[in-house]
Amino acid sequence: MATDVFFWNLRTSMKSPYAKRIRRLLARAGVFRDIQPKDLVAIKMHFGEAGTTSFVSPLLVAPIVDMLTLGGARPFLGDTCTLYVGQRYEGVSHALVAARHGFDPIRLGAPVVLADGIRSGNQREVRIAGRHFETCSIAGDFVDADALVSLNHFKGHMLAGFGGALKNLAMGCATVRGKMQQHCGMGPNLSSRRCTGCGACVARCLYGALELREGKAAIDREKCTGCGACMHACEFGALNVDFKVNTPVFLERMVEYAAAALAPHARTAHITFVSLVSPGCDCEGHSDAPICPDVGVLVSRDPVAIDQAALDLVNQAPPLYPSALPKGLVPGDDKFRALHPDVDGTHALAYAAELGLGRREYRLVKVY
Ligand code: SF4
Ligand code: SF4
Repeated sequence: MATDVFFWNLRTSMKSPYAKRIRRLLARAGVFRDIQPKDLVAIKMHFGEAGTTSFVSPLLVAPIVDMLTLGGARPFLGDTCTLYVGQRYEGVSHALVAARHGFDPIRLGAPVVLADGIRSGNQREVRIAGRHFETCSIAGDFVDADALVSLNHFKGHMLAGFGGALKNLAMGCATVRGKMQQHCGMGPNLSSRRCTGCGACVARCLYGALELREGKAAIDREKCTGCGACMHACEFGALNVDFKVNTPVFLERMVEYAAAALAPHARTAHITFVSLVSPGCDCEGHSDAPICPDVGVLVSRDPVAIDQAALDLVNQAPPLYPSALPKGLVPGDDKFRALHPDVDGTHALAYAAELGLGRREYRLVKVY
């Protein structure tokens, strides 16, 4: 049986501008029907790394928040500390980036909440039955929310092939420790060449897994939990994520984290903007030219079906040039495989369906 994925193609008019159209789409999809007055609703989204311009604009988010607040709910916009050291790796700078990108609680009627706290210490272990994990480290405020909405920007991704609902839930709801587990499952890489022996990482490690030996940091892998805190402490770039991962294993770990993000919630919804489809993630600190024309907005209760639909729509769309796409593509070609030939992102969809997160078969319901 196919799942319904509701679709609007972004056409507007004077009589029916964006706010009216998006509310019509959401009402038709019925995904907010079970949200009750006073519910604390987490809207998981990406505020964009500093320098990124293709994240979902607060102007597009505002009417979605309005729909929830008009029904009496109390939505908040949430994200978590990043694994890499950038402008969003701790909660204070992250909140500042969100404010600079226009996510103003007074304008939007919903505050920004960094759901794992200022140093990713607000975490809960969520039980799942996966191939790789029995528990996953999820941001506490996402677990505590009464309902969870994933608000996704569909785009390419260097490690996952593409990113939509599953990726937003998996990486985005995970603590730094959870992100580390998805990427490599072990501790960080240590570059002795870069290490100055300052000892900042030793002081930060809560597990006694780091010490200074002969003026350089050394990791005890037996004690390391992979929490990632030491990487944030090092100002010399000596501690880094090991991004050399086995792609299918990485994708399966990612899907298990998406399952854990959803597990505490009986009420979930997924909204995907298939617009400004950049070849790379919103974490990259820049937004390269889109690889296809803006396609539309998708809404569903099924994170697998919505990702499959977004992928199909992007691949059916004409390729845009100039862009990072290799020359000579035609509509129907797989744009993400063309960008990252070694990464088959559909493995995540297949595994998510196997885990029971949703279906790859969908019915596109056009709401115009
Ligand atoms: S914080 Fe970085 S430079 Fe300082 S001891 Fe640790 S690894 Fe070396
Ligand atoms: S990842 Fe966490 S546990 Fe491992 S060495 Fe770094 S701070 Fe310690």
